[in-house]
Amino acid sequence: MAENDRSVLGTDVELPSRGLPYGDKLPGGVVRVTPWTTREQMLIAGSNPAQSLPAINTLLDRCTPTLTEVGLRSVDLITADRVFLLIMARTVSHGQSYPVRVKCTVCGLQVPHTFRLPDDMEMRFLPDNWSQPFETLLPVSNARVQLRLLRGHDDMDIERYKESLVRQDQGDIIGDPTYAYRMSKHVVSVTYPDGRVVENRTKGDMGSVHAWYQSLHAMDDAEVRNTVAEHDCGFDTYAELSCIRCSNIFEVGLPLSIEFFRPGRQRERPPGRAVDLNSHRRSDVGRSGSDGAVATSADPDQVPGPETTGGGSPSAADGGRGSDEGAAAGGGVRSF
Ligand SMILES: [Zn+2]
Repeated sequence: MAENDRSVLGTDVELPSRGLPYGDKLPGGVVRVTPWTTREQMLIAGSNPAQSLPAINTLLDRCTPTLTEVGLRSVDLITADRVFLLIMARTVSHGQSYPVRVKCTVCGLQVPHTFRLPDDMEMRFLPDNWSQPFETLLPVSNARVQLRLLRGHDDMDIERYKESLVRQDQGDIIGDPTYAYRMSKHVVSVTYPDGRVVENRTKGDMGSVHAWYQSLHAMDDAEVRNTVAEHDCGFDTYAELSCIRCSNIFEVGLPLSIEFFRPGRQRERPPGRAVDLNSHRRSDVGRSGSDGAVATSADPDQVPGPETTGGGSPSAADGGRGSDEGAAAGGGVRSF
């Protein structure tokens, strides 16, 4: 067997979605993941943070021959499957150990932590009876909303929206300016109490849904977020850390640093076939609300900002609470 034969080194994995969102294209959601090569690592290393999502898309396309065979691209996949495949591709490429340093939310100390991929992350699969759109009645506005999971295409749109905000930035961007936009992407239709229906199909529709979402009552927003989380799947990428200096306990999302794609000094032996990529199967029942939240960073020592640390584990709906100032600053933490 040729050592550089990627298909030989590849491993079949089962997507958290189990293929359910893709019609009959991926029965059982089984996808072959192959290790990435220097060429793919250069894609990431050579791209600045504002361009890393397209690089990640290319990387995912090249490491998942099954998708190409059935006429799918990584941007067609739901976010949870994309995060899952990226983590699996990293595991077959560089092994399970992923050392990071994460800033303590209280004292600022860089706390060392090593993620074991994928064993440290609980997995939730979509159930057999899953379908979308799924709907809920909002408690305050009494609007009925139909919702869906986001795909790579949506992630790209959100990315473009964020870039447009950054270009116009007058220094007044605070928090996550893409939050309402991202949540609006989940909305398939809104039926208002007076019977009026807005379907979210065109760019104009999206503008109107976005405006509506921005003024939504916090309880209605929470209802949308929870409903999406209940119908989502994937890894819970959050780990609980304890600060060795101040004993603060905080949560951190798996950061996607350069170290993730190109391990340095702490590299371990390539995994070959030894890694049990289906170990995530053992933790079938995940925490409520799966997490697509993964922060990206161009700097191996860059740590997630306050938005990606501390607080409760969010749902995939607000997956990627990554700081959006990052893109403006260049080299900051981004969401995937
Ligand atoms: Zn501390």
